[in-house]
Formats: sequence, structure tokens, C-alpha cells
Amino acid sequence: ETLDKGLEKSKTTFFGKLSKAVAGKSKVDDEVLDNLEEVLVTSDVGVDTTLKIIDRIEGRVSRDKYLGTEELNAILREEIAGLLSETHTGEDTDFVIPTDKKPYVIMVVGVNGVGKTTTIGKLAHQFKNQGLKVVLGAADTFRAAAIDQLEVWADRVDVPIIKQKMGSDPASVAFDTLNSAVADNADVVLVDTAGRLHNKVNLMNELTKVKRVMQKVVPDAPHDVLLVLDGSTGQNAFEQAKQFTKATEVTSLAVTKLDGTAKGGVVIGISDQFQIPVKYIGVGEGIEDLQVFNKYEFVDSFFK
Ligand code: GDP
Repeated sequence: ETLDKGLEKSKTTFFGKLSKAVAGKSKVDDEVLDNLEEVLVTSDVGVDTTLKIIDRIEGRVSRDKYLGTEELNAILREEIAGLLSETHTGEDTDFVIPTDKKPYVIMVVGVNGVGKTTTIGKLAHQFKNQGLKVVLGAADTFRAAAIDQLEVWADRVDVPIIKQKMGSDPASVAFDTLNSAVADNADVVLVDTAGRLHNKVNLMNELTKVKRVMQKVVPDAPHDVLLVLDGSTGQNAFEQAKQFTKATEVTSLAVTKLDGTAKGGVVIGISDQFQIPVKYIGVGEGIEDLQVFNKYEFVDSFFK
């Protein structure tokens, strides 16, 4: 696609905004770089990552002062793919989990409303489809609705759920869940946890305790701490990533609600700033609307 064509959709997509930013310009000059900076920031790439990208492009301009805007598209793609490659070293295209850890324990964290329950349900569905034995743990005991919603997904996917009543100790639910998984010879466990950010110390204590108690059953659990972020919330997602990475060791990310939004830039900024790979992306409310993040497909879609 040429940058000219992008002008039609300049309001909505990154590519469109980029086209508008270079319209009528043949050389990458300071004005183009300023415009590009604005495009990246308004696409939720985040200020720090934007400056990093601009800096790299400036470096290329200084080595080639005749650099044309025609080449900008390709150069940006390269730079963005390069940034993503720092954290996305593998090229997973399927919902694979290591087979040498059984049960493989995924602790899922994130604030309410970001799509945590939905993501757990979608993942359970994918794993079950591969013939894996899945167990869910309802350790978000702070809200009754959280337990109920997880149960709806457990029924829908037809996997067992371990729960207690609202207000019970999350660590105790996690303990029961892992015991049950071990007893049933399950392959993968998804443990939902509460994400109340208003009290950082509580959050940290709770997550630490859940982990510690899990380790009484499965010594190297959790194998993955998956933070779910709402990709349509831009700076909020950054802020949540900051809080959760302070509270616990987050090992991977799921970015939801990337359908119907041109805000995919958040994926670039967050994986760069926190050096944590985005493993999954949510692209709708349906059970199949979860994808394994693929950096090449992502960069392609960003430029459409
Ligand atoms: P939780 O409170 O974090 O557990 O959030 P839920 O899983 O209950 O999701 C909150 C809302 O976001 C629900 O209406 C979901 O259907 C919706 N949702 C979750 N993931 C996605 C997604 O990838 N795309 C869209 N469009 N909606 C989503």
C-alpha cells in the first residue's frame, strides 16, 4: 500500500495518520519528524517509546539526508518490528504450553473490566480443544460477580472450576485449585485473581501469598503470570502495567479489545517499556476471539 492511499482512512488508522503526516512532503525533515511523533503518541505508543523510535529515525536521516518520505513506511516497519523483537523472541502461532510442566499453572492478574474473565474462558477453550485437561480457579473472591462470571465460562467451555464463597481467602482457593488439578492429573490450570489497585500493599501481599501457597502444591508454580490489559484504554493500560509489575513478577501480557480500535500502538509501547512479551490479543467478545500474538502479523496490520 502506498502512503497516498492511506489518506482516505487518516482519522482512524495508524497508517492513515502516517499518510496524512507526510502528505505533500518528499523528504523526511524536522516537520515530518514532528508529525510522526504526534502520530505515534496519539496511537498510544507512549511518549518514551515514541522518542526512542524518533531518535532511531533521526539517526537514519542524519546518515542519509536525502531520505524520502516514500521510504518512511518501510523504515518505520523495520524499527517497530525491531523493538518488538526485543521481547518477542519466539514465533509461536499456536496456543502451546510447555509439556514438561504438569500441571502448567497460569496465574492471571489484572483490574476488573479489562477482560480478564473472558480471556481465561477463551484460553480454557483453546487448551481444551487441543485435548488438554483444564481446571479453573476462582481466586478473585472480592466480588461475587467475578466468581459467577468465571463459572459461566467454565460451563460454556465445559471445564471444572474450583471456587469458594465470596470473601474467602484467595490463597485458599488457589491451594484447592492446584490440589484438585494434581489429583485429576490436569494439564493446565488458570487461576483468576483479584486486581484491586487502590491499595498497592494489599495487592502485593495478596499476590505474594497466592503464589506462596500455590508452591506448597506445585513447587515451581506459577509458571506464567499473565497480566490482562485493556488495549482501548491507552495510558490507563500503561499505568496498570506499572502497578502490577511493581506488585509481582509479570511474565506475559494479554491485550484485549484490540477490535474496533486503532489503539494497537499500546502493544508496541507496553512491550518496549516493560520488556514483557504480549502473548495474546483479544479481538472480540466471542469464544474464538483470542489470538496468539504474532509480531509480523501485528506490524502488517498496523500498516493497513
Ligand atoms: P473482567 O472484569 O476483567 O473479568 O472483564 P470481563 O472478562 O468480564 O470483560 C469485560 C467486558 O469486556 C465484557 O463485556 C467482555 O465481553 C468484553 N471483552 C473482553 N475481551 C474483549 C475483546 O477482546 N474485545 C471486545 N470487544 N470486548 C471484550
